[in-house]
This record gives sequence, structure tokens and C-alpha cells, in this order.
Amino acid sequence: MIARTIVDVPAAQTDRLFDYIIPDHLEEIVRPGMRIVVPFGPRLIQGFVIEVVQESDVQKLKSIEEVLDPTPVLTDELLTLGEWLAEQTICFRISAYQAMLPAALKTAVTKELHLLTELNELHPYLQPLFKEKRTILWKDAVDALAGHLKHVRNALDQGQLAVHYVVKEKGKKKTEKWIKLADSADETKVKENAHKQRELLLYLKQQDKALRSQEVLSATKTTRANLKALIDKHLVVEWEQETYRDPLQGVEYKQTPALPLTDEQQQVFTPISESVLNNQSETFLLHGVTGSGKTEIYLQTIEQVLNQGKEAIMLVPEISLTPQIVARFKARFGDEVAVMHSGLSTGEKYDEWRRIHRSEVKVVVGARSAVFAPFSKLGLIIMDEEHEMSYKQEDMPRYHTKEVAIKRANYHQCPVILGSATPSLESYARAKKGVYTLLSLKHRVHNRPMPTVEIVDMREELRAGNRSMFSTSLMEALKTRLERKEQSVLFLNRRGYSTFVMCRDCGYVPQCEHCDISLTYHRSNHSLKCHYCGHEEAMPSVCPECEGEHIRFFGTGTQKVEEELTRVLPEARVIRMDVDTTRTKGAHQKLLDAFGHGEADILLGTQMIAKGLDFPNITLVGVLAADAMLHIPDFRSGERTFQLLEQVSGRAGRHEQPGEVLLQSYTPDHYSIQLVTEHNYEGFFDYEMAQRRTAEYPPYRFMALITVSDPDLPNVIEKSQKIADYLKRTMSKETVVLGPVVSPIARIKDRYRYQCMIKYKNEPRVIEALQQILRHYLRDTTQGNLQISLDMHPYFF
Ligand code: ADP
Ligand code: ZN
Repeated sequence: MIARTIVDVPAAQTDRLFDYIIPDHLEEIVRPGMRIVVPFGPRLIQGFVIEVVQESDVQKLKSIEEVLDPTPVLTDELLTLGEWLAEQTICFRISAYQAMLPAALKTAVTKELHLLTELNELHPYLQPLFKEKRTILWKDAVDALAGHLKHVRNALDQGQLAVHYVVKEKGKKKTEKWIKLADSADETKVKENAHKQRELLLYLKQQDKALRSQEVLSATKTTRANLKALIDKHLVVEWEQETYRDPLQGVEYKQTPALPLTDEQQQVFTPISESVLNNQSETFLLHGVTGSGKTEIYLQTIEQVLNQGKEAIMLVPEISLTPQIVARFKARFGDEVAVMHSGLSTGEKYDEWRRIHRSEVKVVVGARSAVFAPFSKLGLIIMDEEHEMSYKQEDMPRYHTKEVAIKRANYHQCPVILGSATPSLESYARAKKGVYTLLSLKHRVHNRPMPTVEIVDMREELRAGNRSMFSTSLMEALKTRLERKEQSVLFLNRRGYSTFVMCRDCGYVPQCEHCDISLTYHRSNHSLKCHYCGHEEAMPSVCPECEGEHIRFFGTGTQKVEEELTRVLPEARVIRMDVDTTRTKGAHQKLLDAFGHGEADILLGTQMIAKGLDFPNITLVGVLAADAMLHIPDFRSGERTFQLLEQVSGRAGRHEQPGEVLLQSYTPDHYSIQLVTEHNYEGFFDYEMAQRRTAEYPPYRFMALITVSDPDLPNVIEKSQKIADYLKRTMSKETVVLGPVVSPIARIKDRYRYQCMIKYKNEPRVIEALQQILRHYLRDTTQGNLQISLDMHPYFF
């Protein structure tokens, strides 16, 4: 029998199946989807069995060394999904499979040589290697005996040496000791005066079930020696049992029943629930304003899925959403829920994955990679905040979670729900075309009003002589909240701060005359550059719009805001939430809890407080620089700005008291900011779509991004030019190839970066051409350090 295998060497020449002989004693065991250890050149590596077949065309096959899994870690569905993923995202199949599995399953295999006989009997070549040691690493032997490895082989043949393989797993399984009373325990064996032993026995008798040894010892205040005595007398049996590390250990959740749905919720719930009951692979776009009760609909749909005996995946964008969301799911579904996000340790992730793999849970709540949860009876996938960037994976495989979700739902014949208050333009456009089924919730639950939103023109503040980062109206609003003992959220958008130049008098931001994209400031030669087409111009000393002299690039951090805040409002208690204050595990949750318990008046933070917060006492949201993100050199910057502002606004007035939002801005007339005041998503969609059509951006065109990097700048320039030329030659006339130009981040870790971009519509050759590029450059060893990264439908520029 032959195992056709994908090996763990991400390179073009290995992105095919390698055949290995299955030794007789493994024939019953090896199945597709299992991890195995195989020899590859001089090394041993991990591989995934894709197929088991009878014959191979290849002569002189090597054998499998070891099987790592008792059951397949990849189901047939996931094996096929990986193949599709590799093709769609132009990556290696091994990268696709590894992305589906927890890091703990990526093992390191080392080969060791073990001495069986005494040194003096050995060949003199080997003697110096072993000295006093009995075991050495195989690679040390290869290094030391380069060219004379036949001596090792001889020694192996003669039984002087043996080979060992050591498989190192990250986040290994954890075991615990358990005890119970022996079946026929003869108590007379315990002496009258052995009180502690008697106490232990009595306790076990009363509990009458298996218990953790440690728990029993502390409950009875006895020692390990007492227990040992009982075990030795065969009164108690002890064994080791594998346990799961529970990321939510010690957190109590109160069971909450389903809420009676409002009429509007019911109208949305009915079609989804029909789709669940009829096993339809339909994609719904649930467009519901913030606080409209989307989550309650998710919960009730999942309940239906569970009643059918099926499983559900609930995706949330990132860790910031997890604590509050997880609490709501645990409260409804208790132990049926596993969680998966980047905040878990390797071991915790591994354990949660195993609980899913063994069908011990029915619901997973998790971030991006949870879309690969190895359920076999999948009945529903939900993607909350579907517009979020974090659903796009930045490294290989550069997949979009939505596409994977839809693909899996197709396989399982089940629905997908994409939910958002501000859907991505791509999704909304598809829903309008009828590709997805559009469902809307236009009102907050029980008709609570949407918050009132006001724009504060920061140029006027400057004119009035206020140079502080807080406008007069924001200061007053904050003071009122302090008096009324209500809470406020202050949001500082850090992203995009460092790159753009703006006139503080009139709000003018220099843009590329060819691409409609903000120019990026380059400190090195004090110039402005376009990262789409390469256009470059000098940094102006006065504003070309208003001739003011306050044109410069600016930025500020949360820490600076906090200092300023304590200076102007010393009586306010502030909680700051950013990367620095949430570094430690659980810090995030602690800060939110403290705020929830009213231990602070103001929550000051970055992106991580924009979403998911549901606190009744927040009546004011202040956004310090509403336009910060508007000027990132990315054609989606307007969309992101609208989405973010709408999200942040949604934190205010979610319960009884109405909410107020203040947006400070230097460009108050921009449509992305203006339309937030009306909570007008439709208006925004129409306006932005028109822009995209003119500039030929998605969703009217597809895009692909090719980034070339190398420590050697001339090589990067030459190769990226070659790639651009090749693309221009092969693509049809309607397809636009832009570049090569310097990447937005021109150098990372001493590697210079250049990029090309393709904008295309009906161009079947794109995937093929990019695959060619990848294969060509990675096969050609003379390319040295050159790296090529390909991104279909890029989100990060
Ligand atoms: P969204 O996910 O759309 O932001 P949520 O599901 O968080 O909205 O709902 C907002 C608030 O309304 C929450 O506090 C939630 O408990 C409450 N809620 C949702 N549905 C109902 C309902 N049918 N009856 C009463 N309260 C509800
Ligand atoms: Zn340009």
C-alpha cells in the first residue's frame, strides 16, 4: 500500500504528492487526513496523507517512519477544501492545511543516533562523535562525517547503532491523576489508628464516583502518603487521565432563556430558520443597525441547528469582541461551547480544537481560523461584523473567511449568515444583485432611538484659539456626564496617523492626481508619494488650498490624550485601553469589567473599544479625530471610516438613556463623516459605489497585489519590472497592470519592497499567470533571497 503525501516543505517543487510505502504493520492504521513522519532527503519531516493507493509510478520508494495521529486530523471535506484554498489564494497546499490546524499539531521531528555497543568496538570514525554521550543528533553526525556517512550505515547494519525519532509537540497534552474506591475494598486492611486513611476512604465512599486525586487530598486535608498507603493496599485505584485546559475556567455563566423576538426580528428569523430546516446552502446578509438584536437572532438560529443534531460556527472579528460575546453564548448553550481566538495559549487552543474534533462540543465561538473547525455535521456558519478587515488573513494562505465559510456551507448544505450594521460594499452589492439574500433590521430593539451624532469642526476651534485636542463642545459634554454620573467613551483612531499630511487650517490633504488616494509622507527626502502608481511630488511648505502655514503631518497617542485629560478634567476617573494596557492575559476583560461596574467615568481607547461593548450607562461617545483613517493610502479608506464611526457611535444609548456622539474632524464635509450623522448606510453605499465605478475599484473590478522583496534593491527593481512586463504581455487589454512602485512600507527587516497591482474583470488568466510567477521565481535557485507574495483580493496595502 502506498500513501500519497503532501510534505511539510513549502516550496514550489514540493507542492505535489510524494509516494511512500506503508509498512505492513501500519496498513490497518494509515488513512487520508493523518499526519505522518517521512524521510525527505537527509531529513525527517511531517506530511499529510492525502490518498491511500495500491501502486505508484515511482521506483525505489521510501517507507513511512511513523504515524502521528490515531484518527485523521483533516476530514475528507477539509482535505478538498485545502486544495481549493491553495488554488484560489495561490499558496502551497501544506500552508493551507497548516492554517486549518492548531499550532500544536505542527511538530518538529528530530532524528537521533543511539549507541548500542561499547565505543572501543566502533569504527574510529564514530568514536570522537560519541565520546561520553550515548545519543547524538543525526544532523551532528552528518555535519561531522560529511562524505563518510557510509560508516554510520555500516554501524547501523551491524547493530552497533540505532536510530530514534523524537517528535516534539508544542502545547502537549495535559494529564491529571484520578482515583476511586477499588471494587472489592477490604477495609479491615486499614489499621484502627490510621485516622487519615480512614477519613480518605470515608470521603470516597460518600462521593461514590471518580474524583481528581488532588481535589480529594485538599478536601480531606490528607497527604499524598496517606493516599499512597491505600493504593498499596489495593483499596483505592489511581490512574492518569488526559484533561483539557479550559480557557474559561472559573468563569460562571448564568443560564439565560431565549427572548421573545420582536416583530422585526421575527421577520428576519423566519426565512433563516426555513433555510436551516430545509438544509439549504443559502447566504444571508443580515443588515441590522447597531443594537437591533442581531445577536439574539444568531442565538436562536443556533438553537434550531442544535435541535437538529447539528453543529454551528459563530465567527467574531477579533479578541476584542470575544469576552462579552462568549459570555452570551455560554449563558445560552453552556458546555456545548468551545472558544478559539488568539488570546488562548497554544495548549488551550489545542484542547479546544480536540473537543471540537471529538464532537464533545456543538458550537464554536471564535475568530478567523475557527472557520476551519473540524465539525462533521455542520448546520450553520455565522460571521458577525462581516465587513471587518481581520477576516482577511494577511499571510499565506491569504484567504478571506467569508469565501471559506460559503465554500464549507456548500459542502454541508447549510446556510451562512453574514451580519453587520455596515456591510462591506462587496457583500451589499452581491446582496442587491440577489447572490446573497438581503435581510434588514432597521430599528433598535423596542424602538430605542439611534444616538444623535454631531460633527465638531476642528478648524473653527483652531480659529477660535483652542489648540487643545478637545473641542469646547466635547469638554462640556464630558462635564455634563460627570455631573449626571453617566459614562463616556473616548475613541482615538491610531491607524493611519503617521502617514498623511494635512492642513490644520482648512483640512486639505494632498492626493494623487491619478489615483484618488492620499499621498504618503516620506521622511527621508521630505516628499509625498502615491503607493498605487508611483507619482511623487515635493512636500509643500504652504497649503495649496488656503495658503496657510499649518500644513504638516501629525499624530498623537492614547497616552498623550490621557495626560491631557487628567490635566483638564482632574476629577474624572479614566480607564485607558490600548495595546499597552492590555498586554497581559485577561487584562482586557478586567478593564471592561471595571468599567462595567462603574469604576471609571471615561473609557479611553483605540480600535479595540469600537465594537461589541454593550454597557447601559454609556450616553456619550467622543471621537477625537474622525478623519484619521480617511487618509490611509487605500481605496477603502472612506468605507472604513464610515464603518468605524457608525460602530463607535453604536456604543452610545443602547439601553434606556439616549446617546449622544461627537465627531471631531478637520474635514467635516466629507461624505463618510456627514452620512454618519444620519446613520445613512444606503446613502453611503450609493455614493461610495459611484466613486468605485469611476476609479474602477472593487466591487466593480477584482484586484490582485504582487509584492516583491529582497535585501538587494536593484534586484527588487529589476524583478518587479520583469513581473510587470510579463503581466502586461499576458493580460487582455481591459486588464490594468499598475506598477511596479515602492510599497507603502518601503522596507521591512532590511528587505526592500516593490509592488504591482492588477485590476481586472473577466480575466481567466490571472490565477494562472500568478501561479506561473510563483513557480518560476521559487524554482529558480539563482534568485537567492528574493521573495514574492501574492494576494488575490488584497485588503492590506
Ligand atoms: P446587535 O447584535 O444588533 O448589536 P443585540 O443582539 O446586542 O444587538 O441587542 C441589543 C440589546 O437588545 C441587547 O441588550 C439585547 O439583550 C437586547 N435584545 C435583543 N433582542 C431582544 C428582544 N427580542 N427582547 C428584548 N431585548 C432584546
Ligand atoms: Zn497615483
